[in-house]
Amino acid sequence: MHVPLILTDFLDRAVKLYGEKMAVVDDENVCTYKELNARVNQLSYGLKTLTIKKNDKVAYLMPNTLEMLEGFYGVFQLGAIMTPLNTRLKPSDYVFILNHSESKVLFVDEELYHLIQPIRDQLTTVNEIIVTAAKDKHDRCLDYDEWLRQFPKTSFPRIKLEETDIASLLYTSGTTGDPKGVMLTHRSNYLHALSTMHHLRISDRDTLLHILPMFHVNGWGSPFHYTANGATQVMLRKVSADLIFEKIQKQKVTIAHMAPTVLNSLIEYYNQHKPKVEQAMRVVIAGSAPPPAFVAKVEDHLGWEFIHVYGMTETSPLITTSQIRSQHLHLPKEEKHRMKSKTGYSFIGSDVKVVDSKGKEVATNGKEIGEIVTRTNGVMEGYWKNPEATAQAIRGGWFHTGDLAVVDENNTIEIVDRKKDIIISGGENISSIEVEGVLYEHPAVLEAAVVAVPHEKWGETPHAVIVLKEDMLLTEDEIIAFAREKLAHFKAPKSVRFTDSLPKTASGKIQKVEIRKAFRENTLSK
Ligand code: ATP
Ligand code: MG
Repeated sequence: MHVPLILTDFLDRAVKLYGEKMAVVDDENVCTYKELNARVNQLSYGLKTLTIKKNDKVAYLMPNTLEMLEGFYGVFQLGAIMTPLNTRLKPSDYVFILNHSESKVLFVDEELYHLIQPIRDQLTTVNEIIVTAAKDKHDRCLDYDEWLRQFPKTSFPRIKLEETDIASLLYTSGTTGDPKGVMLTHRSNYLHALSTMHHLRISDRDTLLHILPMFHVNGWGSPFHYTANGATQVMLRKVSADLIFEKIQKQKVTIAHMAPTVLNSLIEYYNQHKPKVEQAMRVVIAGSAPPPAFVAKVEDHLGWEFIHVYGMTETSPLITTSQIRSQHLHLPKEEKHRMKSKTGYSFIGSDVKVVDSKGKEVATNGKEIGEIVTRTNGVMEGYWKNPEATAQAIRGGWFHTGDLAVVDENNTIEIVDRKKDIIISGGENISSIEVEGVLYEHPAVLEAAVVAVPHEKWGETPHAVIVLKEDMLLTEDEIIAFAREKLAHFKAPKSVRFTDSLPKTASGKIQKVEIRKAFRENTLSK
């Protein structure tokens, strides 16, 4: 018999097996899986009174909170579509996304309501705005707690769903341009969650610290794989190194996913303040091409296992990992760090390959560059209301990632760059990621980004933008000389700018598109 894979299964399982176990620890709220389920039911009844039905979009603008987590399951019980919004956009972006997605109800955290208030009259489809953690009453808004309280905690009669029904509409990070609405089904999220549980070895003994925002793909999967296994989920409203160490210590956190930029700030904080690090912490997961020196710092300074993963919104997200296989356990530590810093090999259930412009797989020599393409159950149904972009991305059954990579003799993939970020200088390809890896080795460098800038003779040359560690001094000539010692001359930056901070997406990714723009307009801060 065909039993559809529906995401509500995960909470059902947790209630049955781990009902009395602590599900969520938020600043003010603590609840068990049974209590979480009761709140989810109240939410579904409440949404029903607001006439939400199958395929309606329900938007969330929140940091990581209990209300955000329960939103996923409350929305799914009605067959409605979860549409989480990035919390760091400009009000005009919210007008675009809320109208484009045709969201009917919007849940907003009190701290973020100021972003919505000035644009609320421009929202054409949102009928109701519900504010959580509201200290004051807001004009024409419902107060979440007061509203939720009216509805029964008893089980909610589920809408019949097919696994191919859309569960989520997620907008991409917008690292390379305008965000696009990615449609993911129950089936794609479900199968992705199963392989993630396997690769990260998630169990009911885990306590997750929700650092990556739940509105972003990586954080977005967490409510599924951790709930299904009855793990405890600790919410984090604000990302700061001292708060993260405090939560890790107090809640005996065992696992956390984060952007390398956040992990970098933890290493810095640790080296400066030497906070007590709870031994319960077993593993940390990050993406974005971390250089080997960075992996070494995490494992040696912090003492946490580092798991490198790769993926994107369009693929639910994860499709590869570079965990060490048993045949490589005997290798020296440095070699293992180098292997982990590569993009890795495919997740169970993902078919991933690197192809040339004709669709032929590149040679496994670590040299020939091609584009990563993938075919998995996790690949999106398409971009919402954008069939042209969908047809451009999914060709011949394969999703084209726009990421360039090489493959070594062990069949391990290594990202060289995004197509849009690679620097072509005098006909040679320069990986901005490789150059950044070298800059990060310099003890004074906190953050570095390398971008192409136009050059009369060479077409493009690499330009570095660097944030120095506190109280550190470094000149342009010194860092160029340092890079030249370690890289072919044409790859070393030709010019360097020092700045206070780099433009980042809400998930902590450096927005090179903004850096290139700032270079053109000469507007980089400092
Ligand atoms: P947009 O598509 O709107 O420009 P985005 O691509 O940054 O934004 P996401 O879906 O959040 O949006 O990010 C996926 C991208 O992040 C990948 O295509 C890849 O370029 C980069 N990435 C993710 N993981 C890694 C990794 N482990 N190593 C290198 N790059 C990575
Ligand atoms: Mg992308």
